[in-house]
Amino acid sequence: MERTLEGKVIAITGASSGIGEATALLLAEKGAKVVLGARRTERLQSLSDRIEAAGGSCIWLEADVTQRNDLQKLVDLACERFGTLDVIINNAGVGQLSRIDELDVEGWEQMIDVNLKGVLYGIAAAMPVFLKQGSGHIVNVISTSGIKIVPTQGVYAGTKNAVRTITEALRQESAGQVRVTGISPGFVQTEMPNAMKNVTMKNAIRDTMESIAISPQAIARAIAFAIEQPADVEIGDLVIRPSVQN
Ligand code: NDP
Repeated sequence: MERTLEGKVIAITGASSGIGEATALLLAEKGAKVVLGARRTERLQSLSDRIEAAGGSCIWLEADVTQRNDLQKLVDLACERFGTLDVIINNAGVGQLSRIDELDVEGWEQMIDVNLKGVLYGIAAAMPVFLKQGSGHIVNVISTSGIKIVPTQGVYAGTKNAVRTITEALRQESAGQVRVTGISPGFVQTEMPNAMKNVTMKNAIRDTMESIAISPQAIARAIAFAIEQPADVEIGDLVIRPSVQN
């Protein structure tokens, strides 16, 4: 593996499974020092053990992205232990899919708190470091949900499209100092359905995943591609779908 990310310090939220986990493994293999956050600490510990056993550098922290201070602690940890932060990957997300007229208000709030406010808190924690050092990279994991609007994904897509809009505005504002990338995966084989409350949707998404989903490594490769570009090259938006996804 070419070590194109040698020494880069990269924080990843939602690193305990799926896309976040695959990204942590790949970036560490490419030489990055990864700083992992999620709520399931036993997962983070075993991922960290795997990365270190393979010769990589990894630290982790219990971090709930709905808590602004947890994102601050994650960024502080990177700076204290590795001296800086080069990239933050705002990846943590939940999908409480259901029709709007089912009025799953708690599910809406959870998606707004994790998918939207969690990303904003990540930006708020990393930005002062990036501005001070005159460089940095914000990578937001969005979704094809919202590029194509479908029933049962209204609020989920709403949170993702809010992040898409914020990502593009931030990219324009940053004018080269801070690079900004939006990553929009289609169906990816992960644990995402496990957290879904709506059993019909959970089973439907699991079925679709089983039949067409691509591996989380495909998204990890896209994230690595965006980060490993030279400083004057910014990858704005990448959409990575299964070839068969419509
Ligand atoms: P997983 O369920 O495997 O991973 C989700 C991650 O988010 C977990 O590590 C989980 O960690 C974390 N997470 C959830 N809530 C919180 C929270 N409050 N604070 C911190 N971390 C949290 O699913 P994916 O890997 O698929 O999801 C990653 C991202 O990809 C999400 O943003 C999702 O919306 C997006 N995505 C996924 C697609 C797919 O088909 N799988 C398609 C398009 C986008 P923990 O529970 O340990 O806190």
